[in-house]
Amino acid sequence: MDKIASPKKTKEIIQEYQFRFSKSLGQNFLIDKNILENIVEAANITKEDCVVEVGPGIGSLTQHIADKAGKVVAVEIDRNLIPILQKTLADYDNIEVIHEDVLKVDLHEIIEKKLGGRKVKVIGNLPYYVTTPIIMKFLEEKIPMTSMTVMIQQEVAQRMEAVPSTKDYGALSIAVQYYCEPKIMLKVPPSVFIPQPKVDSTVIRLDVLEKPRVYVEKEKLFFGIVKDAFGKRRKTLLNALSTGGLSLSKELVKEAFEATNIDGNRRGETLSIQEFAELANYFVGKL
Ligand code: SAM
Repeated sequence: MDKIASPKKTKEIIQEYQFRFSKSLGQNFLIDKNILENIVEAANITKEDCVVEVGPGIGSLTQHIADKAGKVVAVEIDRNLIPILQKTLADYDNIEVIHEDVLKVDLHEIIEKKLGGRKVKVIGNLPYYVTTPIIMKFLEEKIPMTSMTVMIQQEVAQRMEAVPSTKDYGALSIAVQYYCEPKIMLKVPPSVFIPQPKVDSTVIRLDVLEKPRVYVEKEKLFFGIVKDAFGKRRKTLLNALSTGGLSLSKELVKEAFEATNIDGNRRGETLSIQEFAELANYFVGKL
């Protein structure tokens, strides 16, 4: 079968199946072959690789991944797309489509059962309404993977890559950089999708680190401190932490600053991941 990714072919498939785009499922399909090739190239796929694709849509990216990869497991939530995928991917014997919500499904089990538990590469033109929850699920559940190459809103990609003391730096930057080395690979205009999204898109690759970037004794506490520090961005760190969700007393917070040599008058957005880790580690056993 011809490749799907052209405006003509995509429209034909949509007409044949009377498919209706669901805005609430973030359905914007890629219609540009070059962009698809660039995404697969950015992911650095070889026949040795097993790939988990999130949201295959009508299968345009899936085809390009399968040409390069050993095996592809594609997880799609929309039941109306399943019969379409059966047809568009019929010529490939290395693709398995799973009809599930990626946010609910047990990904460890899928990787164990379908891919023999090997480390995978994750690829997806993600539904923009759940970009962050999907990425954080893979990271927090410590899915065995070497990288995630995903198309997301440009603004979110910038936040993932941001460094301290910039406007984009926040809890998301820290969460992503704790686990990964992020790299923006490609900027993508709305014109290569049907229907066109309202925002610019970016392909970002997150290379998963062998171990987290900094030593953290209690991850929940570390992310709690980060959340409180950025929850009140304009406040000093002392104020933000002593009035945040962790209910830390002012005395204890001051003690922590002294022990870690961090100035409590700074704002959270100036702290590096290392400094957040030192602060969080100080509170272990003291709460
Ligand atoms: N990969 C296709 C492409 O590039 O043309 C489609 C990408 S489209 C932006 C996002 C896809 O993710 C849609 O097919 C949508 O139905 C699917 N999707 C949305 N939410 C999902 C979820 N929670 N689990 C799995 N797939 C989901």
